Amino acid sequence: MGRGAYARQNGPVSYLDHAASTPVRAEAVAAMLPFLTERYGNPSGAHAMARDARNALDDARVILADALGCKPGEIVFTSGGTEADNAAVFSYTGRGAVVCSAIEHHAVLDPVHRVGGRVVGVRSSGVVDLDALRAALDESVALVSIMLANNEVGTIQPLSEVAEIVRAHAPQAVLHTDAVQAFPWLDVAALAEPADLVSISAHKFGGPKGVGVLVVRDGVDFEARQIGGGQERERRSGTQNVAGIVAMAEAARLTVDERKAVIDRVTPMRDRLADGLLQSVPGTVESADRARKVAGNCHLCFEGIESEALLFLLEKHDVMASAAASCASGAQDPSHVLAALGVPRDVAQGSLRLSLGVSTTDEDVDLALAVIPPAVARLRERGS
Ligand code: PLP
Repeated sequence: MGRGAYARQNGPVSYLDHAASTPVRAEAVAAMLPFLTERYGNPSGAHAMARDARNALDDARVILADALGCKPGEIVFTSGGTEADNAAVFSYTGRGAVVCSAIEHHAVLDPVHRVGGRVVGVRSSGVVDLDALRAALDESVALVSIMLANNEVGTIQPLSEVAEIVRAHAPQAVLHTDAVQAFPWLDVAALAEPADLVSISAHKFGGPKGVGVLVVRDGVDFEARQIGGGQERERRSGTQNVAGIVAMAEAARLTVDERKAVIDRVTPMRDRLADGLLQSVPGTVESADRARKVAGNCHLCFEGIESEALLFLLEKHDVMASAAASCASGAQDPSHVLAALGVPRDVAQGSLRLSLGVSTTDEDVDLALAVIPPAVARLRERGS
């Protein structure tokens, strides 16, 4: 509870927005600092300082390959999850149809919409409708993109079943998975194994913002959209963010090492939070099926209120949360994810995502449990 400069200036806060971003791990900061100061060579250069930076990238590639279950040469460094997702979808533009689920992050959904792709529905449990997926596939499909874990309601998607369906009904198609929200919680190396392309983003697991990975498995016919200097084996031109990449690798290593312990610690806290709110606030609906969610996700809808007003009150009482995805919070439109799950619009308007993570403590949960019920009651009294 209450870490960081914001807390030092403003008192303790309950940060329950880890799906939006996570605190950068101290070890990751320590790992990156030398590359922001004395070790500033360009990894594409030909001298000793360049080689030093290149070696750091190579080491990071090995660590990340281990964490992602791929070869070091299959790692393509990007500027984050959005770029990795966009690169995956746009690589197949003009080569056939693209297909994704209706609950993808906008970083996948918007490129798919732009190229006139097919969007497959989900069930109210928050899991992609496999029959609808089957029906959307045919010989013309070039790419299928199904996320491993959803960013809003936290549901884990059955990627191996998806892969089997793709192999049976669109054998020529490439399978991409957005594992951005999965990485802190799931063994991505094992679960994303059937995917040809895999996206992750460092700031969701204790690394800095603006750096991520797209795994492009050997033999996959990937066409780069960012061209120029030919870095990343011609798959993504541009001088690499060496400091960010080194920090990402350190954060990934820690995440994999500590994943089980973090899940064991966070799951009971998440359950106490969700059950506590369901019991103390009448007219609360839990979104999706909790048994299918990643450990850090608690997503609820409070009938008869608007999320925006709730978030404002919570912030005044030092609870930091989101309505939907972080990029959509503040927007008036109810989330496309809740709409796809069939949550009625008036219920979806009162949505709250509380996302726990490595830094969450019992005190964070206590504060949320103390603050949220009276805030909802106040808004209901006020009629907003
Ligand atoms: N995909 C998912 C599932 C996400 O949750 C996010 C971030 O919220 C992204 C992609 C985009 O990642 P980035 O913020 O690194 O661009």
